[in-house]
Amino acid sequence: MSQETPAAEAGRLDFIREIVKQDLRTGKHTSVVSRFPPEPNGHLHIGHAKSICLNFGVAREFGGRCHLRFDDTNPTKDELEYIESIQEDVRWLGFDWGEHLYFASDYFEQLYEWAVHLIEAGRAYVDDLSADEIRAHRGTLTEPGTESPHRGRSAEENLELFGRMRAGEFPDGTRVLRARIDMAAGNINLRDPVLYRIVHATHPRTGDAWCLYPTYDFAHGQSDAIEQITHSLCSLEFEDHRPLYDWLIENLPVPSRPRQIEFARLNLSYTVLSKRKLMRLVQEGHVSGWDDPRLPTLSGLRRRGYPPEAIRAFAGRIGVAKRESQVEMALLEHSVRERLNLTAQRRMAVLRPLKIVLEGYPEGQVEELEAINNPEDLAAGTRQVPFSRELYIEREDFMETPPKKFFRLAPGREVRLRYAYLVTCREVVKDASGEVVELRCTYDPASRGGNAPDGRRVKATLHWVSAAHAVPAEVRLYGSLFTRPDPGAEGDFLDDLNPASLEALRDCRLEPSLAKLAPGETVQFERQGYFCTDPDSTAEAPVFNRTVTLRDTWARIQRTAGRK
Ligand code: ATP
Ligand code: MG
Repeated sequence: MSQETPAAEAGRLDFIREIVKQDLRTGKHTSVVSRFPPEPNGHLHIGHAKSICLNFGVAREFGGRCHLRFDDTNPTKDELEYIESIQEDVRWLGFDWGEHLYFASDYFEQLYEWAVHLIEAGRAYVDDLSADEIRAHRGTLTEPGTESPHRGRSAEENLELFGRMRAGEFPDGTRVLRARIDMAAGNINLRDPVLYRIVHATHPRTGDAWCLYPTYDFAHGQSDAIEQITHSLCSLEFEDHRPLYDWLIENLPVPSRPRQIEFARLNLSYTVLSKRKLMRLVQEGHVSGWDDPRLPTLSGLRRRGYPPEAIRAFAGRIGVAKRESQVEMALLEHSVRERLNLTAQRRMAVLRPLKIVLEGYPEGQVEELEAINNPEDLAAGTRQVPFSRELYIEREDFMETPPKKFFRLAPGREVRLRYAYLVTCREVVKDASGEVVELRCTYDPASRGGNAPDGRRVKATLHWVSAAHAVPAEVRLYGSLFTRPDPGAEGDFLDDLNPASLEALRDCRLEPSLAKLAPGETVQFERQGYFCTDPDSTAEAPVFNRTVTLRDTWARIQRTAGRK
């Protein structure tokens, strides 16, 4: 079974898929229609991926369809740039809305007509109170609200005023249209909610055609109904809005009756998933942009080298539930490793080089050694790696006075160079300051390929690159963006930024085949982790990002949990 198998095929359905299955079985619906409704006021993040995988996943699994609808009802925040990037991100994640791309702004005329319908039915009125006054009249959870003095206006007067609001006769904030429901309702969302507000601003799609814009509550459900959405899946903060959603659907001549179902948002440790906070990180320069590889945005994760399959597998794993919880970042990283372990080719790269010279190895000689591209996928084949007298190994693979459990290179000790020879350190060369700058080693010519004919064992195998052939590169190592799992839990979230979240190593040496790595391909640097080329990379100055380390903290968490 594929790692992306949703709960549906694994035999256990989440509560939303259970409802959909039931509705199809009873004939309430003949096919499922869902939608992903982003507001184009920011870039998508991993939380949106959860919603995308749910909405498109349900449609795919039950043979229905999923719409991409932009909820572009806020002319002061919505931008075309985001409309483009959101589509790119959804496609990259592996989903396709076909011809079903919609905009709430396409429905402005219809929504206006329905507002008129409510006014004519005595179910909406124009209110002259200011936003502050409306708030003050709303009451509290324990106290009923107070009716506005304008609540009793006649339908004629309301129609006339509403028409003049549309015509642009009144400044921003001077009048709103409100539903006339119940100022004493237990649910505050039913205390005459605002349906329309005046905003003199140019909309990215409708330009200056409107100065009157519907609120989320008025636009969303009616857009669902126009598109014949059967199941309108949204996050938990809209649960209290559902009675209003249903009230509007019941009181308007809409062409279908969608059902809103809420699920818990994704919260992820060591990061933030609020557009407002992400915006601050970008605008105040704490990160390099929306696609900074440390951000949980889809463009950031893509640049970091996360495969879309891993994000989908993660979404399948966390499932869908009604209760808020926080998911471990380690689980996301685990999904990434699991995918890359299967697909990523192995390469050798030295991040902090230490030169070694093989005395006895002929000067000028170059051997091409055969290296396996992916032990998990032998079809990936092999490649040739050049070997010569002067090599680089990882600085941390040598210790002059090794402690007990250090089995790698040390004076007098023999180790294996992967795919190559057994070598023994004979001499340590230092500079004036006492820093180790070179190791003089001998090698056993009979151990080509990595094993000695006499069968003697060595405890460590090191990766290496040939000094003359290596490609110099910058490698960027990323740590978590925040120092605590719940940034901002005590004070401003910016105070919890990890000052060491980015470490750029500028003197790395890579095996030559890495110069030709395709953009967007992620490889494993043996013993180091998974890496991909960064868009900053050029032929002259390659730049790599560390996607994720090899160490799997999630696997450890689970082992520990299993032992309890
Ligand atoms: P903000 O962060 O500003 O509150 P938003 O994240 O709700 O905004 P939208 O563009 O309205 O942004 O989101 C589109 C859809 O994605 C909505 O249906 C929303 O419920 C869902 N969504 C947003 N964040 C998450 C999350 N963390 N987990 C699951 N779904 C999410
Ligand atoms: Mg929202």
